[in-house]
Amino acid sequence: MAGRADRMRIAVIGAGGAGACTALELARRGHSVELFDRHDEAVSQATFANEGKIHLGLIYAKDASLATARQMIEGAIAFESLMQRWLPFCAADMRSTPFYYGVHRGSLMGPDALEHHYRRCGAYHDERASALGLDYLGLGVGCRARRLAEAEYPDGVDPAPLDALFETTEHAIDPRAFAACVRAALAAEPRIQLRRSHRVTAVEALPRGGYRVVFEHGGRRESETFSDVANTSWHERLPLDRPLGIRPPGPYSHRYKFGHRIAIPVAPDRIPSLTYVQGPFGDVVNFRSNGLFLSWYPTGRTGMSTAETPPDWHALYSHAERMAVFDRSFEAWRKRCPALGTLPFTGEQVDPYGGVIYALGTTDVDDAQSRLHERHEIGLQSARRYHSLDPGKFTLVPWWAVRLADRIEAAAG
Ligand SMILES: Cc1cc2nc3c(=O)[nH]c(=O)nc-3n(C[C@H](O)[C@H](O)[C@H](O)COP(=O)(O)OP(=O)(O)OC[C@H]3O[C@@H](n4cnc5c(N)ncnc54)[C@H](O)[C@@H]3O)c2cc1C
Repeated sequence: MAGRADRMRIAVIGAGGAGACTALELARRGHSVELFDRHDEAVSQATFANEGKIHLGLIYAKDASLATARQMIEGAIAFESLMQRWLPFCAADMRSTPFYYGVHRGSLMGPDALEHHYRRCGAYHDERASALGLDYLGLGVGCRARRLAEAEYPDGVDPAPLDALFETTEHAIDPRAFAACVRAALAAEPRIQLRRSHRVTAVEALPRGGYRVVFEHGGRRESETFSDVANTSWHERLPLDRPLGIRPPGPYSHRYKFGHRIAIPVAPDRIPSLTYVQGPFGDVVNFRSNGLFLSWYPTGRTGMSTAETPPDWHALYSHAERMAVFDRSFEAWRKRCPALGTLPFTGEQVDPYGGVIYALGTTDVDDAQSRLHERHEIGLQSARRYHSLDPGKFTLVPWWAVRLADRIEAAAG
């Protein structure tokens, strides 16, 4: 092991969840890693902006093959134990309240079909959790969804726009608390050099093996050579992959979606965590002392692009424009969940943040046939000792990070 580690010089491009977990896993195995990120902070993009739902496959009901749900469940049940390989991670400290799934009027699927799907997810979860000896987020609750009578709806939910409401055992992990833990673990690991504000612009395969990684830093263009390269740069992955001969497995799109945060403590029973399905609806997540997450798709999905490099959406919106998106999204949710109107918060406590979602599929989620309703054609593609990872979801970041580390070692021989 030590001999092989000595021969390897590994670059990981992108210190989001996927790159950071991959670097931590490689360091655990005795490798030194240079971890490049174009921003001045690790875990500041999609992994920071996301809702943090650790998916049990419930939302992927349009994929009748269950391939997406199976993939999510594998990642979800392993999530906490994998994180504990790298840092003192306790899901209970950053967990949301459990989600209710509301079947909104105009849903692409009706309550009966959804109930059938949720049962299939539950059965698959039980099979895998027992085979692997793992427990979803340490909850001991399995994957369950119970259809509620209207009298059982939680306080503050308006039944009028709903055809049904399910109480589920699905939860989220606060991505901002997750980011803080991962940043601390990176800083404490002497085998990882985090190269902040280093934007990788190209990776070139060298004729005698190895790769030249070209990057911009402090207004200068520089390069260094590495034996092994992992590209975990999410929505900036494709232009780096193309010269190495790696292409996405199908037509794809990038979407910019707001995931607003309200930084006030919220009592667990004051606002329910809600996911409204099936189509262009949204989510409210109660992170208790860590605050509230809120997104409403029709107002919060502000950009969609099929270009290889999507627009720099982050830079496009002023704070005032971001707050206007928040106001419209909050209002859409307040109508459906009037309890939100009783929350005491000021504009300063709102962070109207957003992130990019890369996925196969070029039509939006209101199209019943859209490939966006499936998320299983993800994972690793390699060309010799260059590897590109599409983790698909936050749920799957730790799961794929371990597989990427395996792939890097296997390719090194
Ligand atoms: C609003 C929203 C809600 C979501 N909700 C959920 C959810 O509830 N559950 C779930 O499972 N998933 C969810 N997702 C998806 C999830 O966020 C992503 O699948 C996941 O975070 C991707 O992780 P990543 O590390 O690949 O990407 P990122 O976290 O974006 O990391 C990529 C990193 O690469 C860096 N980078 C990019 N280009 C370069 C370059 N050229 N050079 C150097 N560094 C570079 C970036 O700065 C960034 O730090 C959501 C996404 C969004 C946007």
